[in-house]
Amino acid sequence: MTNTPGGSDVELLSALRADVNGAVIGPDHADYDDVRVPWNLTLVHQQPAAVVLADSAEDVAAAVRVAAKRGLGVAVQATGHGAVHPCDGAVLVSTARLRTVHIDPDRRLATVAAGARWQDVLAAAAPHGLAPLAGTSPHVGVLGFTLGGGYSWLSRRYGLAAESLVAATLVTADGQLRTVDERTDPELLWALRGAGGNFGVVTSGQLRLFPVRELYAGALAFPIERAPEVLDAYRQWTGSVPDEVSSVLALIRLPEMLSSLAPLDGRLVQVMICDLEPAEVAEQRLAPFRALGPAIDTVRTITTEQLGEIANDSVGPMPLNEHGHLVADLSPGLIDVLLAANGPDAPEGLPLLAVRHLGGQLATAQASSCHGGRQAGFLINATGADLGPELAAVVDAHQETLSVSLKPYTVGGAGLNFIGKARGGRVGDAARTRAAFEPSDYRRLVALKKAHDPENMFRFNHNIAPL
Ligand SMILES: Cc1cc2nc3c(=O)[nH]c(=O)nc-3n(C[C@H](O)[C@H](O)[C@H](O)COP(=O)(O)OP(=O)(O)OC[C@H]3O[C@@H](n4cnc5c(N)ncnc54)[C@H](O)[C@@H]3O)c2cc1C
Repeated sequence: MTNTPGGSDVELLSALRADVNGAVIGPDHADYDDVRVPWNLTLVHQQPAAVVLADSAEDVAAAVRVAAKRGLGVAVQATGHGAVHPCDGAVLVSTARLRTVHIDPDRRLATVAAGARWQDVLAAAAPHGLAPLAGTSPHVGVLGFTLGGGYSWLSRRYGLAAESLVAATLVTADGQLRTVDERTDPELLWALRGAGGNFGVVTSGQLRLFPVRELYAGALAFPIERAPEVLDAYRQWTGSVPDEVSSVLALIRLPEMLSSLAPLDGRLVQVMICDLEPAEVAEQRLAPFRALGPAIDTVRTITTEQLGEIANDSVGPMPLNEHGHLVADLSPGLIDVLLAANGPDAPEGLPLLAVRHLGGQLATAQASSCHGGRQAGFLINATGADLGPELAAVVDAHQETLSVSLKPYTVGGAGLNFIGKARGGRVGDAARTRAAFEPSDYRRLVALKKAHDPENMFRFNHNIAPL
């Protein structure tokens, strides 16, 4: 290995440049920081040996082969929203340039390239009166989201995004490009539906679309002081709504430097809803919340392309430190825990505590997918911002305290999309990754990993080690 003073591995870079059409960027390159830094800035310091800006599936396969020959790991980045493990010394394949989307309206299918974001699919499907199982942010990558499970605004009615994946083309650790579907490899398809990027780089995926044109959706916001009564109303309301209604309640208390990012000085309790039924029906359902007199009410009929306006997630990069927990129901005891963690009188340090209503189709066990957590009624997702080492330590301490308080209420581990950044220690990433699956499914995934990636080349993720 010959390294330049700037740290570039010259032989690796020239081998990649010989085989790849897209740009290959090493640590000496002026664009290195632009292409290596993920959306989630907690991994801002990651130092891959090379970044390959893939222009095609063949580029991805070539990059994997070059890395394999040198015993290097391979990481994947579409947007970096789900970056959880620094890919130091690895070949980072950026799929950001691969955003093609093709819609087959008759078969209600979208074929998406590896770097497509939800906004690309929403825009392409909308003219056909169809929608994908997109989540809160249209800027999140379709495949990263889908491989990790994928709770959508439409999921209580139509299921997990992972279960809408009907086929994928995938570069495996041997550098081969293979098509995976129910006919060619049902076992690998089962694993792709929930086990993240552990089995290779997906270069394109085929996803089911659903007949949805409009949504009655938006947010009701109240000052944080009203959190106890709003949480109690939410508990009762979620017990009565049909599968057409998805919702998330968020307790938000932003630090002063971020307070302009949300209304009501960044201190609010917000109920975000998405109802698939027409406004006349949905309005009546929302009446109990409107009767509480929200300070802000943005709920209205919107198109599926406006879906990102429900939650208004940050478009710009953020240093998010999150940790999800699955609970069976919203009992009064659990509500007390949530209020103690992020209610009006809680100590500062945990800007966002979200309660996502699951159930509906999400509660139906699917033999076709490895995603766990069917028994959960709600996902509690605690999110801090690692704004410097001192605040990061405060956030970690809050996360730890909350984990202990939530323990009596949890029912299994959250799916990969909500595990958060990799940590060491007692409840580190390996334990959380294992807990995301049913024990027998985890054993099945390990066997598949041994067969497809025995050297654990794809390990910069919530890793299923081939052990
Ligand atoms: C603001 C925000 C909103 C979110 N909302 C939701 C939500 O509503 N519902 C939900 O379920 N999740 C949600 N998430 C979680 C999100 O789905 C995950 O973080 C997901 O991993 C992001 O995928 P990405 O491709 O954008 O990110 P990236 O960081 O680019 O990728 C994340 C990981 O996915 C894997 N991956 C990505 N592309 C490929 C590929 N082509 N082949 C193989 N592996 C790949 C890799 O392991 C990669 O490290 C949200 C996250 C954020 C930050």
